[in-house]
Amino acid sequence: MKVNFREAKSIITKSNIPSIDYVINPYTGCQHGCIYCYAEFMIRFTNHKGEKWGDFLDIKTFDFNKIKPQKYTGKRLLLSSVTDPYLPLEKKYQNTRRILEKLVDTEAEVSILTKSKLVTRDIDLFKKFRNIKVGISISTLNDDFAKKIERGASKPSDRILALKEIADAGIETYTFVSPYFPEITDFKAIIRKAQTFTDTFSFENLNFRPHNVSRIKAIIETNFPEYLAVYEELRKDRSYWNLVESEIRNYCENEGISFKIEFHHGGFSKS
Ligand code: SF4
Repeated sequence: MKVNFREAKSIITKSNIPSIDYVINPYTGCQHGCIYCYAEFMIRFTNHKGEKWGDFLDIKTFDFNKIKPQKYTGKRLLLSSVTDPYLPLEKKYQNTRRILEKLVDTEAEVSILTKSKLVTRDIDLFKKFRNIKVGISISTLNDDFAKKIERGASKPSDRILALKEIADAGIETYTFVSPYFPEITDFKAIIRKAQTFTDTFSFENLNFRPHNVSRIKAIIETNFPEYLAVYEELRKDRSYWNLVESEIRNYCENEGISFKIEFHHGGFSKS
């Protein structure tokens, strides 16, 4: 892992994600190195041409005293969109924690999204916020498969335990079933596992991008060759997603589960 320090001009930036006003990315790059990552386009914008996503991390340096919590009243803030706020190196550099410390008085709606159990470290801070929700993203309950697609992230079983600990502390939680891997993501099993400590479930489909297609195909071919044809077909005909969407909708409505479907918006980045 190549680690650099880079001065950031700003740390809370306007967002183009639907329903999010500002995003906070304490780092550039992401140690989790997910094979499907939609944030990989960042390589082009951040002097990392030729490097591999997941192999570098820029620790943003910034005067955190410049953060003005009152500036975001009524706005929706997401931490994070093109990195994970609780990367292994967050333990050492604590950018996320320092940003949250400056934001505790905000009247914004703050949403934390992670694939890391380290998130429980900041429960003390989450408790100080007026309007905060903390979520994990998860595609599978299979720890072995998760290791193959999200090599640096916490095991799904640990993410689930972390979410429970957060909910037990009285904090609003959500489970983001994302990305939904056709034929592999068992959304009902995920709901059953997390239902008692999740306030809202949301769902996002797997998006194919030129940079991730060959990696996704290789993983499916090696681990689930029986589904390869489905993945090939899916790239030509997206109607499969409509079926998945109605299955989720029917299940959640019947079970009385609070849910949001975020299919088709194209991931966290503009392609
Ligand atoms: S955790 Fe998110 S930002 Fe990091 S590699 Fe995975 S998908 Fe990309």
